[in-house]
Amino acid sequence: MKIIESLEIESEIEKINKNFRKYVEQVFSKIFLKKIDRVFKKKLIVQEMNMESQANNIVAITVGENIYLNMKLFKEYSTEKAMMYIIHELLHVLYNKKQFPEIRTVLKQLAEATMRRIPPDKINEFLTGKKQSIHSNPSLEYLSYCSNAAFKWSICPELKQIYKDILSESGLFDMDSSFWKKRF
Ligand SMILES: [Zn+2]
Repeated sequence: MKIIESLEIESEIEKINKNFRKYVEQVFSKIFLKKIDRVFKKKLIVQEMNMESQANNIVAITVGENIYLNMKLFKEYSTEKAMMYIIHELLHVLYNKKQFPEIRTVLKQLAEATMRRIPPDKINEFLTGKKQSIHSNPSLEYLSYCSNAAFKWSICPELKQIYKDILSESGLFDMDSSFWKKRF
């Protein structure tokens, strides 16, 4: 196994491998990216998801540090759409690694701010913009869904600024990048 200097990804989809660093450099602040690069000793491995997940219409899923995708769908996605999902899953990977308590703090702040303002039966709709199940525990999704940017802010308009402030004050994200400008 080759030890890496900076976090890379390995998938059968070339547009993901090729664009990964460009996106990661936009998402995270320089200082936090340095830490990410220091912590990861091997590439992120992306694999095909099992048939059961595919049958449940799941597009991408993370278990521990492994990302699973419905490859057929990803081959058709635009680079931007594919990378939106990859960043979503990467945020789950960081959450799952014990070296990143700061990610768990941000998620906790987003969760508290959201649950104080939105009733439980509206949370899925707030996260996805649609009345649909998200196939996972919503309390683990407030940060990763920042990548999707499908939030239904109209359920609670003041949350948009609150989310932006939490992300920005954490110092973990490059909120001036085009990635975040498109989202907030
Ligand atoms: Zn998720």
